[in-house]
Parts: sequence; C-alpha cells; structure tokens
Amino acid sequence: MWRYIPDLLATPVPRYTSFPTAAEFTDTVDAPDMDAALAGVGQGAPVSLYLHIPYCREICWYCGCNTGAANRTGRLDAYLQRLGQEIDLVATSLGGRGKVTRIAWGGGSPNALAPDAFDRLNDRLLKAFDGAGAVGSIEVDPRGLGRAWAASIARNRIGRVSLGVQTFAPHIQAAIGRVQPEADIANSVGLLCEAGVGSINFDLMYGLPGQSTGDLVDTLNRAIAMGPDRLAVFGYAHVPHLLPRQRRIDASALPSPRDRFVQAGIAHDLLTAAGYQAIGFDHFARTGDAIAIAASAGKLRRNFQGFTEDASDTLIGLGASAISAFPDRLLQNEKNTGRYHLKIGSGRFATARGLRRTALDARIGAAIEQVLCNGRADLSGLPLTRPVEAALERFRMLGLVARDGHDLSLAPDGLPYARSIAATLDPYRAGNQVRFSSAV
Ligand code: SF4
Repeated sequence: MWRYIPDLLATPVPRYTSFPTAAEFTDTVDAPDMDAALAGVGQGAPVSLYLHIPYCREICWYCGCNTGAANRTGRLDAYLQRLGQEIDLVATSLGGRGKVTRIAWGGGSPNALAPDAFDRLNDRLLKAFDGAGAVGSIEVDPRGLGRAWAASIARNRIGRVSLGVQTFAPHIQAAIGRVQPEADIANSVGLLCEAGVGSINFDLMYGLPGQSTGDLVDTLNRAIAMGPDRLAVFGYAHVPHLLPRQRRIDASALPSPRDRFVQAGIAHDLLTAAGYQAIGFDHFARTGDAIAIAASAGKLRRNFQGFTEDASDTLIGLGASAISAFPDRLLQNEKNTGRYHLKIGSGRFATARGLRRTALDARIGAAIEQVLCNGRADLSGLPLTRPVEAALERFRMLGLVARDGHDLSLAPDGLPYARSIAATLDPYRAGNQVRFSSAV
C-alpha cells in the first residue's frame, strides 16, 4: 500500500502532457507560427497527426473535453468540410516533407459521425499526407458503436481503439450523467475483436461521486475479465468553476482526498497483480503491448494523448481546439468552432494560442518527461535554484526520490507523487495553481 502524505498532495499540479503546459499559452502566436513550424519539418521526419472531432451523442457531466452535442447533422457536415480544408491546407504547406507515421482520432467521440462520413474524411487525409501504413488509433464511445462503425474501423485499418468505460456501477453512472449498460461495453469489445482490432484500451476513473473502494474493485474486476490490452485509470478532476457542466455533479458525494489516494493505489495493485505492467503513473498494459515494450526499454514518451510509445517530436493537431507540438513551439487551434470555421474558411491556419519554447523550456520539459515516463532524469543543465533543491530535498528526506549527482530517480514509494515531484522542476508553477487537478 502506498504511503499517504497529504501535505505533498495539497497543491494541484499539471498532468504535463506538454511542457510548458497549456496554462502558459498566450495569444502571442498566430498562423505565421504554424507556417514557420511546418517549414521546419525535415524531409522524411516522423510526423504524428491528431484529428479532433468536437461532438458527442450525449454530453457526460464530468467531461473536460472540448465537445458539444451532435444533435444537428448539418453542423457535423459543415465541421467535416472545414476539417477537410484544414487537412489540405496543412498538407500543402508541408509540401511532402515529413512522413506520417501515426494518425490518432479523438474528441469528443469520432463515432458521433456517420461511418461513411468518417470513411470519406480518412480517405482524404491518407491521400493528402500519404499516410498509408501509419499506425491508426481512435477514441470511441461504446454507446454508439454498432456493426457499421466496427466495419469502418476495420476498413480504415485502425488497429487501436480506446473505449470510454469509466465505471460499471449503475449508481455512479447515473451520478456522472453517463449511463451505459455493461452489455454495451461487452458488445463493443466483441465487435472490435471481430473487426481485427489488435489493441483495445479501457479508460476508467476513480474519485467519482458515490464511488466506494468496493465499487472501484468491482469495476476493475469486470474490466479485467473483458481482457483489454491497455487500461488508463484517471482521477476525476472536479473543477465546476472551469467546466460548468460539472455543476450537475454532487460535490458532497465525492470521495475524500485520502479515499482518492487509496483508490489510485488499489487500481495500481489490482491491475499489476492481474498481470498488467504499470506504465507511467496512470496507464497499465499487457506485457508485449507496444507501450509496455517501450516502457521497459526506457523509451516511453508523453504527449497530449498521455503516455505513448510514439517517438515523434512533431505532432500536428487538426480541428477546433487541437494542439500541435513542434520542438520549438506549441500551437493551439481556435477552440470555438465558429471562429475555427471562419479562419479555415478564409484559407488561413486556425492557430489562436500557444507559445514558443526556449532552449531552457526544452531541457526542463525533457527532464519532466523523463521523471514521469521513466522514473528518473538527468538534471544537468537545469537551473537548480535553492527553492528547487529544497523541494527535492524534502522528497529525498521522505524516501520518495534518490539523488546521485545530477541524477534524480523516483523511489518505489514515489510513484503516486510523480507529478508533484516533476512540478518542482517547473518554474512556471510559482504562481496560481487553481487551474490544475489534484496531484492524485
Ligand atoms: S463521450 Fe467522452 S468526450 Fe463525449 S462528453 Fe462523454 S466523456 Fe466527454
């Protein structure tokens, strides 16, 4: 059982899917930054694509994604037209440089689209970028996954599917506005296996309203019985001041910080006992899965989609609110679909926010990524100021990290504090922390 040290978890910290984090983005970047970043992509350099579909059949109350209800076909069609235009715009600007090795579809729920509309868009994408042979992945809402969608996934050679499961407990599903019978999940897994999908991920959550440790154990056992290749177990972040849709969730029913910590530990212990390898601080994978192999080889990475074996340093985000990551800058598209339409419709990139990364940002980002992915980092070249050293020393005295010269490594007990330890290296965290989620 993990050691609970509440003081260390009292400060909310970023999830570090990028460094600097999106909280540091400003509006000082614009479309010319995207032009310059694309011009910097080398011939044959690996490029990953992320396509954002900001629509879902129903909106879950806990959701922190940029998404809306897919209740009007015309709205979806108009969005797909613009997304197609953006695909062409970016591909033209790349001019054949770069080699697309990954294509990830997320949202929202890509399966809020009609399968034939998805087929057409994917065809356009593969032609524009010569993406044949790229590793394809997609996030799917099991409530809308029928035979036609499973066939589309097979037709488009998408080998990895992530299912939003969250919890199997009906009373918790009701409390978070996401009612989905267990049969929907089992049916989805069956259809995807029949379609030849090689890797299925389940997203699960702890820290949900009314969720007891018994509820969580029951969900984990049901999930394990269905045999996913990977699982991600996220702590629910209750931030209704930022996400008004969360106001429908009864905050008085949320587990205490201690209970959240216990739940995270239970998930870790139960899944590893069931044969899954712990990946980073919240992912689990079967031995032999690509992400487990990468983790064992010290090659695990972290990007906007979480832990990944994707080694590319260039991720191009397409669609409203999508974020692109280049070695020297992070660029986010307009979140608002109306403004996204206007920009793309006028033939411009939809870049609205972001930042240019300094050389120091790159070094700090690499160290933070190493801590979170591999449990150790080389701190040479970082500004180890007195406050940073003092913070690290506190973790060392508690037996959560070890230091050997410039090498920093997490002790076994340090895993649940990994984000807090990484945050000691982040100079931007001296200010307001209110925008981040609980450290566990
Ligand atoms: S289906 Fe997923 S993306 Fe859509 S509202 Fe629910 S949690 Fe959010």
